[in-house]
Amino acid sequence: MYPLFRAILLLMACLLISTHPAKAWGFFAHERINRLAVFSLPPEMMVLFKPHIEYIVQQSTAPDKRRYLLAAEGARHYLDADHYGLPPFSAVPRSWPEAQAKFTADTLQRYGVLPWHLERMMAQLTSAFQARNGTRILKLAAELGHYMGDAHVPLHACSNHNGQFTGQHGIHGLWESRIPELLADQSFDLWAGPAGYIKNPRELIWQVITASALAADTVLRLEQKLSKRFPADQRYAYELRKGILVRNYSTAYTKAYHRLLGDMVERRMRAAVATVAACWYTAWVDAGQPPLHALTISLPDKAAIRQLDSLWRHGKIFNREHQD
Ligand SMILES: [Zn+2]
Repeated sequence: MYPLFRAILLLMACLLISTHPAKAWGFFAHERINRLAVFSLPPEMMVLFKPHIEYIVQQSTAPDKRRYLLAAEGARHYLDADHYGLPPFSAVPRSWPEAQAKFTADTLQRYGVLPWHLERMMAQLTSAFQARNGTRILKLAAELGHYMGDAHVPLHACSNHNGQFTGQHGIHGLWESRIPELLADQSFDLWAGPAGYIKNPRELIWQVITASALAADTVLRLEQKLSKRFPADQRYAYELRKGILVRNYSTAYTKAYHRLLGDMVERRMRAAVATVAACWYTAWVDAGQPPLHALTISLPDKAAIRQLDSLWRHGKIFNREHQD
């Protein structure tokens, strides 16, 4: 090959290489969680949710896409729990007005508002059931599924959310995207059983986040240990995705990390399915179990969804990066 031609090819390859894989294809787990949660619902709810399952799946990633449009959106996806001390984080008031009075709204926004946002979404979903507003029920249920999915990810409850303090940049996507994408459909058992009723949603939300925060240390420590055994050229691999050369964790490294974690990713994913279904069911029960078979539904048309997708693809993220 002519040296000049080869140099040009090499340059083009370098320009196309993306080092941010999580941004391009990190939505697999959210879609799976919402889809599977539908099958845990009782028949009285299934009549509404099952015919619109594709919308519920598609809408599971809308909150992440909205982060490119709305500055306030980012903080709803995480809680830097370690900022407030040790588990069970009893220094943090569970009610929003009390937390705001103690820490100020600015501080809460900076370190994440996930638990309070989840509580708000539960209230909104319950109201939508009470009003028998089918369109709103589906939208809120799908989005609640997203935030509850995030709450089950250890690095969404930890300030070192992408290993940025410990030289482990990219670990966020490795845990929540790469492992599920590579292994969930082949080997995870994600069936969660029939949805249960949540007696105290606030308590449950904090239990989920505390369990995530407790696991964050293991997530980080084991990857650091593993990276010492794998030279960099074996840790990463390049693959072509939609015409773009993407650098990602290699299959061997991903599988080795998964083995070290035991069944952690599978367990947290299955717990997310169970909790999402339980939240939907609880909101319906608390609304008085309204019949759902004859509601009028008007979902956004495909053009509106495409527009959001396009803004997400070309947009710039507010606040922190790489956190789906
Ligand atoms: Zn998110």
